[in-house]
Amino acid sequence: MSEWSKRTKAVHGGVRRSQYNEVSEAIFMTQGFVYESAEQAEARFQKAGEDEFIYARYGNPTVRMFEDRIAAFEGAEDAFATASGMAAVNGALVSMLKAGDHVVSARALFGSCLYILEEVLTRYGVEVTFVDGTDLTQWDAAIRPDTKAVFFESISNPTLEVIDIAGVSKLAHAVGATVVVDNVFSTPVYSNAIALGADVVVYSATKHIDGQGRALGGVVLGTKEFIRGVAEPYLKHTGGALSPFSAWLMLKGMETLELRVKAQAESAQKLAEALDGHPALSRVLYPGLKSHPQYELCQAQMGAGGTVLSIDVGSQERAFKFLNALDIILISNNLGDAKSIATHPATTTHQRLPDAQKEALGLTSGLVRISIGLEDSDDLLKDIENALSCV
Ligand SMILES: *Cc1c(COP(=O)(O)O)cnc(C)c1O
Repeated sequence: MSEWSKRTKAVHGGVRRSQYNEVSEAIFMTQGFVYESAEQAEARFQKAGEDEFIYARYGNPTVRMFEDRIAAFEGAEDAFATASGMAAVNGALVSMLKAGDHVVSARALFGSCLYILEEVLTRYGVEVTFVDGTDLTQWDAAIRPDTKAVFFESISNPTLEVIDIAGVSKLAHAVGATVVVDNVFSTPVYSNAIALGADVVVYSATKHIDGQGRALGGVVLGTKEFIRGVAEPYLKHTGGALSPFSAWLMLKGMETLELRVKAQAESAQKLAEALDGHPALSRVLYPGLKSHPQYELCQAQMGAGGTVLSIDVGSQERAFKFLNALDIILISNNLGDAKSIATHPATTTHQRLPDAQKEALGLTSGLVRISIGLEDSDDLLKDIENALSCV
């Protein structure tokens, strides 16, 4: 399998066939596994082999297929699947940190990620320093000899700042800190995170991996030593396990992931270019636009701008008018979905941020995040232009 290209790994990676030799991966909807004898049960609890399972909170054949497939696709040694993206972020960080440790994090974070860094970790005695993630001099100043980990979203949600994975990793590795990257907006398709220096990569599988709005899921990827030695002991005892049924949805999602994400990113690029300079918009934010401050970094790091763009229509009132006038694009808060989705972050996903912080992040009241789906891009452009004519 290691010689296969990503596309082939996405379709065949990690397959475990039952005695029936099924084509489509089986859903092992079981929490437990029967032992041939008491001695076998004892032996398996002492040390479970590669293809031996004990309890679905620890592992399950369908979940394991998804873990092996996404690890192969990402180019990681191993993976642990979780019940949601947040279980993955929490598991990756909490499993490796203890009171007294120091963490440096980008300030521009998804609301729930910020909650973990700002409230959960600090409550247990971890010191967290926040920096402007796009500014390497701030990372350099904040990282100390005793820094244990750095954390950032490689593309921030919803202001779409691109963080230099190689640059931050170099600074972190100089003091032996672990680099944890939330890579949702880059997607596994455009990710080179591990090659660029990330030690641990985290995805919300709810987004592009399922990509069809059906199930929550997440995954932590890294070395075998980190996944099995650090992340798994914490995750398997604290209950963040992915359901076998959801793992099956994610396995099926992997088969079409690259086709979907490339088509969505192509449409997003087309729409961003068409909307750039529109008289009703004060800003069009998309890392694939030449006007984006990290355009070149994004090209080098991902080779594409991703599937999400943000537009600024000027005020909350105008943003609500715009959203309410959309016909095809849905008002919701998922992203990476086959259906295009528009979100007003200031009043929904990022509602809990204090106003001063929203301002510092450029998260203005007129900002609308649009996740581009698989619809015809001309239809989407017409829908957006029509809604803009209503504001
Ligand atoms: C959605 C999201 C998460 C959380 O994922 P869930 O599956 O909703 O728990 C974490 N980080 C980023 C960047 C996200 O967009």
